[in-house]
Order: sequence, then C-alpha cells, then structure tokens
Amino acid sequence: MKKNVKKALALMLVLCAGVAGCGTKKQTAQEKTASHKTTAKKATTTTSSKKQETRKLKKSNWIIELDPGHGGNDSGAVGKTNDQPQEKDINLKIAKYIKQELSKNSNIKVYLTRTGDTKPELSERVPKAVQDKADLFISLHNNANGEIVDYDHGCTVLVPTGNYKKEVSKQAQLLGCYFLKQLEQTGVENQGLLMRTSEKNEKYPNGKLRDYYRIIHNSVEEGIPGVIVEHSFVDNDNDVEQFLKDDAKIKKLAQADAKAIRDYCLGTVKQEKEEKQKVTLITDSKGKNNKYSSKMFTLYEY
Ligand SMILES: [Zn+2]
Repeated sequence: MKKNVKKALALMLVLCAGVAGCGTKKQTAQEKTASHKTTAKKATTTTSSKKQETRKLKKSNWIIELDPGHGGNDSGAVGKTNDQPQEKDINLKIAKYIKQELSKNSNIKVYLTRTGDTKPELSERVPKAVQDKADLFISLHNNANGEIVDYDHGCTVLVPTGNYKKEVSKQAQLLGCYFLKQLEQTGVENQGLLMRTSEKNEKYPNGKLRDYYRIIHNSVEEGIPGVIVEHSFVDNDNDVEQFLKDDAKIKKLAQADAKAIRDYCLGTVKQEKEEKQKVTLITDSKGKNNKYSSKMFTLYEY
C-alpha cells in the first residue's frame, strides 16, 4: 500500500492506571486469565515511562473489519431488567452506523463479521478479517459489572500487551487511544486502555505470555492491529440513559468510533497539548488487585 507521510507530531499519552474488561457474560465467553510473575515483570518493563515512538500504519486505502460482539443465542452483557437493550443488538447497531458513516470516505472499505442476529464463533472472527484482507480489526462491545474491573460505568479499550509482534501491538494500542479520545468527547467516562495476559500460561511462539482475549491474540498472531472497544455499561442506569437508550444515542457512539477510525487512518489528528491516558495491566485472575503501570506514546500525524 502507498505511504503518504506528512509529518511527525506529538501527543504524549502517559498511561497510569485503571481497570476494565467485558461484561460477566463476555468473560465466560472468553478464556480465563491468571497471574504470571515473569510476565508481570516483563510487562512492567515495557511499560516504563521511557518515551516510545508509535507510528501508525501508513496507507492510502484501508480495509476495516468491524466485529459486532456476541449475537444469536449469546446476548452478551445483560441489563438489570429484561426491557433494557441487549448488548448483542447494541453492538450490531454501532457497527452498522460506523459503516454508514465511513461510507463517506471512498478510501475506507468496511466489512462486518456479522450483519444480523447470528453468532460467529470467536475462532471465526479474526479469520474473517484475514479473508477480507483487513488492515484493522475492531471488535465492538458494551460492558457489564463483573469481577475484573473496579468501576461500573464508562468506556475502555482492550489492547495487546506487546508481548508478540510488538509493532502490530503498538499500532493497536495507539488505535485504542484514538477511540478513547473520541468516546470521551461524547461524555462517556474514559476508563483507559486495558491489557490482560493469559492465566493459563499460554504462550506466543516467541515464548512470551499470550494476550488473554482470543480476539486480541488472534489478531496479533495474524499481524492485524486489533482492539476490543467497550463503549459503556448496559447495566448502569446512567450509561444506558445517556448513551444506549435509543438509536440516536447509539449513533452518537458510532459516530465517535467512525471519527476515531478516520483520524487514525487518514491522519486528521492535530497536535494538541500533552495528554494522559490510563492503562491497566491485568496479570492475574483477581483483576482488581493488579498493579498499574505507565507507558507513553507519541502519536504521529500523516
Ligand atoms: Zn461483550
């Protein structure tokens, strides 16, 4: 693909602390994780405060795979009452609105892993992106109060640790920052990035601990920057009222996502003041007791 570098710029994102995860339902759908001392140490090292240059992929034409989480008999996270919207339906609406929004850009092509109330297996979702020759893989979700995170509202983006194919992982981390930045502007509380490693001691081919979520480690393995965007909580009254209650509100989240994707792909982000971004690294099954680490990114404009 063609590269079109304009110029490098600036935003420093200092990652401090925070926690996240998907809803209870989703956690059961994903593989479980546990602590691993060696990995925790390693991750802390890579997330030291030293400046890291994280360049975006430079391309003129983009293929985006959107993955509306859950579907079919898997409703995903559930609200407090039956009349509240189901996560699977919200995720699909977000995906369709993003596609609609991005259709305004002729150099961004969008595919979906599902277009109806069906349930592609987790093992089929990243392969669909590979088949479509996607440049980015974006899994769309909403959260519910679970055991892993210590907050019950707001947005987070799950990204790879960088234990394998570091450049691909860095691009995913950077993409995650773009999503947080835009979602925050809609009024959703920004809970930061979340990284989580295998609790079963599963490894990447290089011997380092694998990322916990299948979507994440599959995309890393395939060399496609991949993220899981948790927009807000379906079981939090305030989040539902403000962001999920009706199609107009859901569309606003999707428009924020579309802007994040467009900014990332087309380089429409301008240099701003130094920004701080939270990051949580979960290396054990207890989640809430994890130590926080920090990291810095330099965003580039192309
Ligand atoms: Zn989910």
